[in-house]
Amino acid sequence: MLLILHPNTKDDDPSYKETMTFLQALPGIAHRVHKVQGQQQQLTEIYLIGDTHTLEKDQIETLPAVERVVRIADEYRVLGRHKDSDLVTGFTYNGVDFTQDSFHLFAGLCAVDNPKHVEEMLRVLQDNGQQCTRMGAYKPRTNPYSFQGHGDSCLPYVFELAGKYGIKVVAMEVTHEAHIEEIDAALEQTGRPTGVMLQIGTRNTQNFELLKSIGKQQTYPALLKRGFGITLNESLNAAEYLASEGNSQVIFCLRGMKSSFGAPHRNMVDFTHVPVVKRLTRMPVCIDPSHSVGTREVAPDNIMDVAHATAQGIIAGANMVLVDFHPDPPTALVDGPQALLLEELPAFLADVRLVRETYLKRGAIWGG
Ligand code: PEP
Ligand code: MN
Repeated sequence: MLLILHPNTKDDDPSYKETMTFLQALPGIAHRVHKVQGQQQQLTEIYLIGDTHTLEKDQIETLPAVERVVRIADEYRVLGRHKDSDLVTGFTYNGVDFTQDSFHLFAGLCAVDNPKHVEEMLRVLQDNGQQCTRMGAYKPRTNPYSFQGHGDSCLPYVFELAGKYGIKVVAMEVTHEAHIEEIDAALEQTGRPTGVMLQIGTRNTQNFELLKSIGKQQTYPALLKRGFGITLNESLNAAEYLASEGNSQVIFCLRGMKSSFGAPHRNMVDFTHVPVVKRLTRMPVCIDPSHSVGTREVAPDNIMDVAHATAQGIIAGANMVLVDFHPDPPTALVDGPQALLLEELPAFLADVRLVRETYLKRGAIWGG
């Protein structure tokens, strides 16, 4: 059972205290409080866990802090959409809205290599009106002898440069809970010039201990990559792990499935699942065309496969695009062959805007 409190209810409001006293006295029923920061207001949701069938919805609805009560299914309890409910989607982080209606591009380096390349990347983003980026510091690699990322040594200059170029959110993969502390310390040391979205890579989608660590903190939102060899349901449950621990600021990212049937692409592109994830859950949905397609091949129409895949995801309603760029792909330490060039950003953006506008018009045609 889900209780939605009146907007902006504070922990020290008498109505909140009275409501909590009642809930705490319910035998055999645990509760979990989730706070969702929206642009205008703070929403508090309380999940009752246990045998809630015996509870009367009408009675709970009379509690002073409660606005409404929704009976929810067992699956995707926090992040799911539930019948007859009109729950908010997404969240606001560092002044940027992430919902099932918003759209943001996260172009950037697959892996940070040096300050010069980071700065060149960020400058071109600012010149093109962008406020988000991706930067890999901790790289999970197939081969133990491959470059593993510069780790926390690069964080101070990445964050300082991000601030210098007006970047509000940096998507950054973490592979261990210690990385959250390293990121937090580096942000603190540099005066929090930017924000970070913690990325969980496809190799870690079901690393439940990592999910729990990221779920336990609410400072940083999470970008969860779909597991490349598990079902959609399993990946959505992984997202729910984050939320069940208390962090419901989660974006779900499609990045292609590992299958030889995707060849010559690196993975089998799965962007038809964008509307499916939006229907089943309240998470904003991201696509990663770079790791899906994995090449810079160009079709006879002069459009790169990676741009075609991007368009396919956006036309289906994607809320975010994570894409690899690099100032000098041949010298990139990770995934150079799939990186777009900085001079390709304006065309890429023009394409993205055209398709996004078309998606919004599609909604109107269908009565949305
Ligand atoms: C990445 O985005 O850098 C990455 C490693 O992606 P994935 O986990 O989807 O392979
Ligand atoms: Mn990569």
